[in-house]
Amino acid sequence: MTNWDEHKDVVIIGSGIAGLSAAIEAKAAGASVVVLEKMKVTGGNTRISDGGIAAPNNYLQKEKGVEDSQAQFYADMRAAGLGLNHPDLLEVVTANAAESVDWTREVLGVEYLDRLDRFGGHASARALTTRNHTGADFTRAQMKKLEAMGVEVRTGCLLTALLTDDRGGVCGVAIRSGYQFPDANSGVAEHIGANQAVVLATGGFGSDVRFRSIQNPALNESVGSTNHRGATAEGLIAALKIGAAPVHLSWIQLGPWACADEAGYGRASSFASYSVYPSGILVDPVTGERIVNEWSDRRTRSDAILDTGHACVGIVDSRGASIAAASLETSLKRGHVKAFESLSDLATAYDMPDGRLEATVKHYNDAIGKGRTDRFGKPLGRGAQLLAAPPFYAIRLWPKVHYTAGGIGINAQAQVLDLDQRAIPHLYAAGEVCGGIHGASRLGSCALAECLVFGRIAGQQAAACRPEGDA
Ligand SMILES: Cc1cc2nc3c(=O)[nH]c(=O)nc-3n(C[C@H](O)[C@H](O)[C@H](O)COP(=O)(O)OP(=O)(O)OC[C@H]3O[C@@H](n4cnc5c(N)ncnc54)[C@H](O)[C@@H]3O)c2cc1C
Repeated sequence: MTNWDEHKDVVIIGSGIAGLSAAIEAKAAGASVVVLEKMKVTGGNTRISDGGIAAPNNYLQKEKGVEDSQAQFYADMRAAGLGLNHPDLLEVVTANAAESVDWTREVLGVEYLDRLDRFGGHASARALTTRNHTGADFTRAQMKKLEAMGVEVRTGCLLTALLTDDRGGVCGVAIRSGYQFPDANSGVAEHIGANQAVVLATGGFGSDVRFRSIQNPALNESVGSTNHRGATAEGLIAALKIGAAPVHLSWIQLGPWACADEAGYGRASSFASYSVYPSGILVDPVTGERIVNEWSDRRTRSDAILDTGHACVGIVDSRGASIAAASLETSLKRGHVKAFESLSDLATAYDMPDGRLEATVKHYNDAIGKGRTDRFGKPLGRGAQLLAAPPFYAIRLWPKVHYTAGGIGINAQAQVLDLDQRAIPHLYAAGEVCGGIHGASRLGSCALAECLVFGRIAGQQAAACRPEGDA
C-alpha cells in the first residue's frame, strides 16, 4: 500500500514548454493540477532555446504572402528524418503547429518578431521567433498564466518512479522533494497520487553522458552539449521501467553550428546558425575548400565536419553578418568570431593552403552569378549570397550534442505506448522525452512546435481521462 502525501487529478513532470502547455490545458479543462520540476529554476531547455518555432501557413507568412503548406512541412521533416518519422505523429504536428502558434498569441500573449527564418532543410521561410529571441518568452508567459489559474509549479522535485496499480495503470509518482541536482540522495521521498493521469514532459537527455553513451559510445564526455545541466534521462528511464516502448534512442543530434572555442550553446553558435550557414560557407582549413551544402539538415552538416576529423571554419561577409549583429558583437569581443579585411588574411590565420580559399570563394561567387546548383546540391540561384563585402568573419565549428530525437513511444493522443503498442493507462507524454516524430534528424525550429502541439494534447487528454473504475 502506498502512503500518499497528496492527490491531484493530473500530475505533470517537467516545466518546459511541453509540461507547462499540458498544465494550462488540463487546468482549463477543469482538472486540479500540479507541475513538478527537479531543478531550482523552471523552463529546462526551452528557457535557453532561441525561441524559433516553425509552422506552415502561420499568420506572418499570410501577412507577408509567403506560400507554404502542411504537405510541404511534412515532406521536409520526413526527408530530414530519413522517413523514420512516425506518420501519425508527424501529421498531428504539421496539422496543428499554426493553430498552436495562434494559441500562444491569444491565450498567453506571446509576441513574435516581424521576421520569418528559413533554416536548413525547410523549403520555405516558416520559422517565427519570439520577441526577445528566446524560448523563455514562452515559459515566462506560461508561468504567468499558470499563476493566474492557481496552478502550483513546484521546483526541487525529482521524479524517481512512476507508480502503477494492480491493473498496470499509472496511479501516481514517487519523488524526492527538496532535491538538489545532481545529488540523488538529497531531499525526502514523497508519493503524489494522480486521480486521472500523469503527464511526463521531462525533456531530452543531451547532458546525460552515461545514458547517451549507452546509445552511442562516441558521444562520451569528450563531446560537449548545448543543453541545460538537467537534461538527463531519469524521467525517460522511469517510463522504460514500467514498460514504455523505446523509440529511436540512438538518433542523437549534434548541432553543426556549435563553436569549437566556447562552452555550451553560447553566443557564437547563434551567429553561426543565423548568419554563417544561411549566408556564408563552411570550409575545411586543411584543404581550403567547401565540404557540404550549408543549407542541408543538421545531421548532414555535422557529419561533414566530423568526417574531416577537426574543426572547420565558417565564413561570412559583412552583409551576411549583419543579420546577427548582436551575437556578432559579443562573439567578436570574446574572440570566438574573428574579423579579417581580406580572404588571404583569413586563410593565413587558419593555416589554409596558399590561394585555395580565394579560389573556393571565386568559384562559389561565379556559380551564384550563374544560378547553378553546386556539387553538394545547394541551389545557389535561390538566395545564396555573394561573399564579397569585407570584413570577412570566421568561426571554428565543431558539433555538440544538441537534441535527442529518440524517447518513449506515444500515439496521436499523446498516450504512452508499451512494447505491444498498447497505451499504458493514465500515462501521457509530450516534448523531447518522446521519440518518433523527427526520425533521424530534427529540422531547426521544429522542436518547440512539436512540444507545444503535443503538450497541449497531453494536457487535454489527461484532463479527460477517467479515474480507474469510473465506467
Ligand atoms: C540551446 C538550445 C537552443 C534551442 N533552440 C531551439 C529553437 O529555437 N527552436 C526549436 O524548435 N527548438 C530549439 N531547441 C530545442 C528545444 O528547445 C527543446 O527540444 C524543447 O525546449 C524541449 O522542451 P520540453 O518541454 O520537452 O523539455 P525541457 O524544456 O527541457 O523541459 C523539461 C524539464 O523537465 C525537467 N526534468 C527532467 N527530468 C526530471 C525529473 N526526473 N523530475 C522532475 N523534472 C525533471 C527538466 O529539468 C526540465 O526543466 C533548442 C535547444 C537548445 C538546447
